[in-house]
Amino acid sequence: MNVINEFIKRNEAFSNSDFEAGLKMLPSLKTVIIGCVDPRVDPVDVFGLNPGEAAVIRNVGGRINPATLQNMAIVRSVAVAEGKEVGPGWNLIVLHHTDCGITPCLAHAPALLAKNLGVEVSDLAQLAIADPYAAVAIDVAALKANPQLPGGFLVTGMVYDVATGKVETVVPPALLRPDPIA
Ligand SMILES: [Zn+2]
Repeated sequence: MNVINEFIKRNEAFSNSDFEAGLKMLPSLKTVIIGCVDPRVDPVDVFGLNPGEAAVIRNVGGRINPATLQNMAIVRSVAVAEGKEVGPGWNLIVLHHTDCGITPCLAHAPALLAKNLGVEVSDLAQLAIADPYAAVAIDVAALKANPQLPGGFLVTGMVYDVATGKVETVVPPALLRPDPIA
């Protein structure tokens, strides 16, 4: 299969059927999802997203790293530029998954992974790389501890099981900070 030709064909079908003109830049469900690049865990599939519903930031593992935080800051600045605010009424979902490639990466290229995550190699053990259930809780805690993020976000930690297709809520929805004004 010539992939590019195939994608152009699929895009032709998309532009003629599912495409919706006039979608807004900001997500209609006021939702930001942080997930992994793994092709099996696309939030569009896992959550049945329709065009325009959620902003999705993907990296290796769906981890909270410096680049993710920078992207979130930019999303927030875009919202402000649009006359909106990211915060109260918005969802922030951290979506990790089983059988993630970040685990073999830890074994074969720890320095590369540490650099990506913005930590020292000696600190990788604290991030529970090989355990998505523990890792998602660590990342939600990191978000809650970050004063740069809007406190009004309702943050949820979830793990998707690639063997069953089911998502489990590991960290139930809670405000990023009890005082959402900040
Ligand atoms: Zn992954």
